[in-house]
Amino acid sequence: MAGLWDAALRGEAAVRRAALAAVDAALLEGVLMRTEAEPNASDVVSYAPFTLLPSAVPSALFRQAYAVQQDFNLLVDAISQDGEFLERALASTIKVDDFTARLFRIHLQVLEEGLAQSVFLGINRSDYMFDCGAPGAPALKQIEINTIAASFGGLASRTAAVHGRVLKELGMAEEASRLLPNNPSEGLASGIAKAWELYGSRSAVVMFLVEEVQRNIFDQRCVENELWNRNIRVIRKRFRDVFEKGSLDEARRLYMDGQEVAVVYYREGYVPKNYDQQNWEARLLLERSRAVKCPDIATQLAGTKKVQQELSRPGTLEKLLPGRTEAIARIRATFAGLYSLDMGEEGDKIAATAIANPDQFVLKPQREGGGNNLYGEELRQVLEKIKDSPERTSYILMDKIQPQPTRNYLLRAHSPLKASECISELGIFGVYVRQGKELVMNEAAGHLLRTKAVEHADGGVAAGVAVLDTPYLV
Ligand code: ADP
Ligand code: MG
Repeated sequence: MAGLWDAALRGEAAVRRAALAAVDAALLEGVLMRTEAEPNASDVVSYAPFTLLPSAVPSALFRQAYAVQQDFNLLVDAISQDGEFLERALASTIKVDDFTARLFRIHLQVLEEGLAQSVFLGINRSDYMFDCGAPGAPALKQIEINTIAASFGGLASRTAAVHGRVLKELGMAEEASRLLPNNPSEGLASGIAKAWELYGSRSAVVMFLVEEVQRNIFDQRCVENELWNRNIRVIRKRFRDVFEKGSLDEARRLYMDGQEVAVVYYREGYVPKNYDQQNWEARLLLERSRAVKCPDIATQLAGTKKVQQELSRPGTLEKLLPGRTEAIARIRATFAGLYSLDMGEEGDKIAATAIANPDQFVLKPQREGGGNNLYGEELRQVLEKIKDSPERTSYILMDKIQPQPTRNYLLRAHSPLKASECISELGIFGVYVRQGKELVMNEAAGHLLRTKAVEHADGGVAAGVAVLDTPYLV
């Protein structure tokens, strides 16, 4: 696959011209981000970082990723309803990881009181790399599934047009016409709209729960605008606003400033730094309410790395999805090796193996958002230090996936134009809605391709490492 665009990239002048056109196209199409200097103002904005050229993606693996998405939606939804499974899977983790423990306590508290919520909305993104570690064709391997605040569906809806423009600039109109349409904004919004409709109060609003620092607001606005186009009102609030102005009535309907809220769409709340004591209280209030939470706290827990690892144990998928043999086979085919570090012989053994071969593994804590995993020498040192202590159970180990690097240019504001060896990660958005026990929507809602330079082991777009890309199927 290396060298898809080699001919086009030979002329330096042409590359410079294409990069200028690319940046203007990104601004025209709305592939935007607020600046680091002014993360909460839109007076001066910039483009979200992106690749100059689309990246080659094997079409069979692309189709495979789409084909397994409805299965993953079913699986996440099943886990979220299986309190016993969650409790068993997270038992060791919550003894040592305060953040997961705190989420888990809210989950128990809400169950104990009895759920007021009867409509459930899941928006997730399952991320993959194309593993070339074993001989033969590359294989689709899941990195993780994000069940809360899965981002870039909005901007991904606008990126293909930018890459189409670049290919035309470089004399490849035919290739430009082969880029696939992609509209996660619309797919995500149709899930939110469906949940809003089933909630059943025309005057109620959708609340986007947003962070204090809102650099990625345009990604959210893409989804928001789709809702306004359907005449659904959207408000944007922070935990702090909920703490100050949120309330429940006797039927546990949620009100913000006197406005009833039908759906709470979290783009916040997935890392410890999102919470102080007041924010935890706000989270509890939201979870206790009748409003449709996207996700509810059980679904957030279903997306932890510990749960991902427990799913790979023989027999677990069969218990969670009884009778669904084909779905299970499709899901399992995407699993990389995942290993528990729970205390005991199994954990001792894999810890020793990873210490001896640190470059073959990734050590992952229960965190989201990029920049938390450990690799190579650092992995070895940390594991060496904690290998005999229960602290190790706050991590999982995973086989390191080895994608084939290709050459591209990563376009970032204020960065010089230079070619990099890059690897890509494909995400598929999933959307589902359940009313009581009945699934009324279950869809794959579009894709996101992110690409980063090989020298970065970790990291997403918001973490400043990866950039937006468009798949070019080969
Ligand atoms: P986060 O929740 O922080 O996004 P991820 O599990 O997605 O955690 O890991 C962050 C990044 O680290 C990924 O986007 C990917 O680039 C890299 N990564 C994670 N797991 C692996 C793996 N098993 N092999 C290779 N790279 C990985
Ligand atoms: Mg990730």
